[in-house]
Amino acid sequence: MQLIQFTTSLVLCTLATFSAAFPVNGSTHEIDETQLDRRGTSVPFGAVIDRCTVPGTFALTFDDGPFIFTNKILDLLRANGVRATFFLTGQLHANIIANGDIVRRAIAEGHQVGSHTWSHPWLVGGLDQNVMVKQMTQLESAFLRIIGRIPTYMRPPYLAVDGSVLAIMGQLSYHVISASIDTKDYENDDPVAIWNSFEKFRRELDGGGTITLAHDVHRSTVDILAQAMIDEIRKRGLKMVTVGECLGDAPENWYRGAR
Ligand SMILES: [Zn+2]
Repeated sequence: MQLIQFTTSLVLCTLATFSAAFPVNGSTHEIDETQLDRRGTSVPFGAVIDRCTVPGTFALTFDDGPFIFTNKILDLLRANGVRATFFLTGQLHANIIANGDIVRRAIAEGHQVGSHTWSHPWLVGGLDQNVMVKQMTQLESAFLRIIGRIPTYMRPPYLAVDGSVLAIMGQLSYHVISASIDTKDYENDDPVAIWNSFEKFRRELDGGGTITLAHDVHRSTVDILAQAMIDEIRKRGLKMVTVGECLGDAPENWYRGAR
């Protein structure tokens, strides 16, 4: 009986707290959070997460794809027998719908995909909330077309968040993933300079970082950094898994159906 009462109050609380309406394009865009079941996961929504919680795990993440190098990263991950997470954009370096095969391949090979917004804007600094919602829901529509589901994990562009971003992501039921190792590979996209990113990676790994950020849109990351990171993590005896797995979240919670 107590359990039933608890469950009932949780449902009522969920209904009351997470219903939200956003006017988009002059009309009211209803975000019906009552359809979303949050109870299967212990991972918080709308709060910054930057490290793994499962001991001994490590999460490689690659942002800003899909792009012409993404398949090469997938080949490399497969050859190494490790899993990673891709935070994908709708239209940045390439269009996600035109590259649906890459998205489906990543999932088929055991990787996780998450949202990185439609077109990679700065979300902080007073961006209109309707624009922020549209950045997420436009990409959700693309994911529905490509994989029939919507990711529940997102990464804010530039890792930039403020209270407004977190509130919106919470209302949209997204886990917000930052990073505890930032390779800054975009500053070092050169066969020599990329080793600066590797040294930064190693220092932050020494500092206890467990979620690392790199980009599958830079040639030196794909050709050099990714393998160097994998070799180093392996040397430390850590298991490379998806972000969801490193947070102890069951795979069925990594995606949801249409809103
Ligand atoms: Zn990015």
